Amino acid sequence: MHICVIGGGLTGLSAALRLSGAHTVTVLEMDAEPGGCLSSYRLPDYAIESLYHHCFSGDVHLRALISELGLSERLEWLKGSTGYMVGGSISPLTTPLEILRYPHLSLLEKIRLGLFVLGSKKADYETLDEIPAERFIREELGDQIYRSFFEPLLKSKFGERRSEVSAAWLMSRIAIRSDRGSEGERLGYIKGGFVELIDALLLRLDEMGCRVETGHRVSSLQAVEDGWMVDGERYDCVISTLPPQETGRLSSLPLPSLPYQGSACLTLATSSDPTDGIYWVNIGDSAPYGAVITHTNLLPFERYGEHIVYIASYYSGTPPDDCEELFISDFCSRFSIPRSSIHWHRLRIEPYAGPVYLTGYRSMIPDPHPAPGLFIAGMFSSENYPERSMDGSVAAGEAIAQSVMEWSP
Ligand SMILES: Cc1cc2nc3c(=O)[nH]c(=O)nc-3n(C[C@H](O)[C@H](O)[C@H](O)COP(=O)(O)OP(=O)(O)OC[C@H]3O[C@@H](n4cnc5c(N)ncnc54)[C@H](O)[C@@H]3O)c2cc1C
Repeated sequence: MHICVIGGGLTGLSAALRLSGAHTVTVLEMDAEPGGCLSSYRLPDYAIESLYHHCFSGDVHLRALISELGLSERLEWLKGSTGYMVGGSISPLTTPLEILRYPHLSLLEKIRLGLFVLGSKKADYETLDEIPAERFIREELGDQIYRSFFEPLLKSKFGERRSEVSAAWLMSRIAIRSDRGSEGERLGYIKGGFVELIDALLLRLDEMGCRVETGHRVSSLQAVEDGWMVDGERYDCVISTLPPQETGRLSSLPLPSLPYQGSACLTLATSSDPTDGIYWVNIGDSAPYGAVITHTNLLPFERYGEHIVYIASYYSGTPPDDCEELFISDFCSRFSIPRSSIHWHRLRIEPYAGPVYLTGYRSMIPDPHPAPGLFIAGMFSSENYPERSMDGSVAAGEAIAQSVMEWSP
């Protein structure tokens, strides 16, 4: 069969890998470089993801792919540290002792929070999918813990839609982020960056005869008698990794419109460390962004020779006007960083950064095979529920490839 894969992100490339060899596969990617959300800025001295990325020890599909591509020895496990900025100062929250010292909750509230976190691993996501996270936390932990601890986090991730997000999403996040020892979380990163994973995938695909066409934005997708026409070229079947509403728009099929949010992420390099040695700082104060992530507090500074910082925010609808300037001026004053110490900065706006996991999201997940010869997979797939990830996207790509192999036209 000649198979067209629309989108050269992790889902599309993983699907193409499983189908190439047995079939003729063409990947169509609109950007100049494949990688999607996992693409990187290639700078003269190093490459760095345009959106912050790390992986987790439980990422079985991703780790198997990394190993298959011969990159296991480059996968490093590092200590991830976290903090919370409230009232202009950062409280570290990495070790149990730091959590005990956290000044914005009472001892009793911390004990309740600790027990709640321990329970997150046993959560029943199916039931929690129907319950709003806000209501769940208020009932389980009370208003004060919700307002002072969870609300700023939910607000920075989901903005005005925070009260509609399901408890399934929240509990899955807590379960994954609380998988830590006495010194903090263990986070994975490929030495040299995840660009090495994308490059290794592209090399393997090339060896297997798969054609990856970049700079090709698909604009038409039409069913024909014995297959599909994509921008005037005929294929036996198509895998679209775009959000279902985009595939629906291209094909005129009535695919569901899922709630998505965008991400505005500014990456900058500076000579000083803004977050006092902490990797990930959530901003509890009112700010135009929700987190400041200092990559060089996870990876050794020496590898880069400058501090690499992400200023991260999510948005619904359209990104804030002039957010590059807004982020930089707020960041410089909030973190006392002179503008002159910023070596370079780049903004990435990603309109489809991830689904908003509203209550009932599980039942909104679309059929992966909505029409004969048309398959859909991506961040919205069941493998990425209740939170999208690199691991979920590899799993979604592999599962959709399997469905294609089991399908006979
Ligand atoms: C800010 C942010 C931080 C993240 N951090 C982490 C992390 O730390 N750990 C983790 O595990 N996961 C993380 N993720 C999630 C992870 O990046 C994604 O789950 C994964 O990369 C998604 O891959 P995908 O192929 O499903 O989608 P995408 O990467 O979105 O790929 C879709 C591709 O389709 C292309 N495309 C779109 N329209 C067209 C068209 N008309 N024609 C042709 N091509 C088109 C796009 O350019 C893109 O390359 C993060 C995501 C974001 C947004």
